[in-house]
Amino acid sequence: MHDPKKSRRRFLRQSALAATGLILAPMIVGCGNKSTASSTTSAPAAAPVKDRQLGVALLGLGGYAKGQIAPSLQFTKHCRLTGIITGSPEKVPEWQEKYGIREENVYAYDNLEAIADNAEIDVVYVITPTATHKDFAVRAANAGKHVWCEKPMAMNPADCQVIIDACTRNHVRLSIGYRMLHEPNTQKFIGLSKKKAFGAFTGFTSLAGYAGSDPPTDNWRGQRAMGGGALYDMGVYTINGLRYGTQLNPVAVVSANQYRPTEVDVTTEYTLEYANGLMAEGKTSVVTEYNQLRIDAENGWHQMEPMQPYDGVQGMTSAGTVLGPPIDGKQQTLQMDNDALAIMNNQPVIAPGKMGLADVAVIRAIIESAETGKRVLI
Ligand code: NAD
Repeated sequence: MHDPKKSRRRFLRQSALAATGLILAPMIVGCGNKSTASSTTSAPAAAPVKDRQLGVALLGLGGYAKGQIAPSLQFTKHCRLTGIITGSPEKVPEWQEKYGIREENVYAYDNLEAIADNAEIDVVYVITPTATHKDFAVRAANAGKHVWCEKPMAMNPADCQVIIDACTRNHVRLSIGYRMLHEPNTQKFIGLSKKKAFGAFTGFTSLAGYAGSDPPTDNWRGQRAMGGGALYDMGVYTINGLRYGTQLNPVAVVSANQYRPTEVDVTTEYTLEYANGLMAEGKTSVVTEYNQLRIDAENGWHQMEPMQPYDGVQGMTSAGTVLGPPIDGKQQTLQMDNDALAIMNNQPVIAPGKMGLADVAVIRAIIESAETGKRVLI
């Protein structure tokens, strides 16, 4: 007998296989991918998926999951919040009541593996402290679920690679929660960078900070081993911003300074170098406010300011053009819909694991440069 849940699982598994190039072209055609010359003799190519929904389980029910991701999920077209995975059982009743999550779809961290048998959950979204991303992401992938992983991807490039390998091995897809890459004004800004709207680039600036207080050492944000501190938390926006703003990979950290009143940095400044000799100045803080991504070029400039808040990012150019208006709705809604469509339509994701890894490599090089006082190759 036809079981729609099984068919759906099979479909999603096949999409993941196709995305990793592990299944043959005729099956890719059947999965709604681009048609090929041989497709005329195969089954007709299916239309891209537009109206399906993936079941998403949130792993970690802290501030970002509760304040941004769960509310944003309510407005998605292609996702449904079907499950939760938490180490805090006291949070479960409120989440179940608010989002109608069925008892069968509630998991603790220690029985996460059982999610493998749950056809209502297609994706596990890892939203826990950075040092925990690797283990949770690998366990989710081993359970056969697609993985969405918050930024920064992990503590170091090796851990990022472990996540990538686990997703590849299990034929599941992986996206990093870089919400800015899904934000329409940021996408217009990226378009200007790609076409070098103001001529050859001459220099770059990337600043992201907020005026908070020193992170307390009894919270993961104040703990170095957990991924606390300004550079991991906010600095990754400046690094990823330079990546999409320049469309280049930095080759070295020329110099860096970290101000660490406790075990974590509250402010970090760095200079990156690119293969063509261009330089980027970056600064990030959890105690000082600034928010700008700027690309200078021969004939002008374009910038985002502010470049990464949840609402109201805005871009402009030296020609007086304003990129905008700020979007109506949430970046995270766009992010999750784009990531769900990428899975269902077997398309590349906007923020793949290798991008997350590359940014974490820059973080580590900045730390090394600050600690040694030397130029560090990336
Ligand atoms: P938080 O402290 O508010 O929540 C963390 C959650 O993880 C809590 O529910 C906690 O119980 C759980 N947890 C699981 N294992 C834990 C452990 N070993 N130690 C401590 N807590 C543990 O943090 P948050 O603000 O929700 O951030 C979570 C992740 O989301 C981080 O990676 C952060 O960088 C990322 N984040 C992303 C954005 C964004 O805009 N993309 C914004 C905020 C946070």
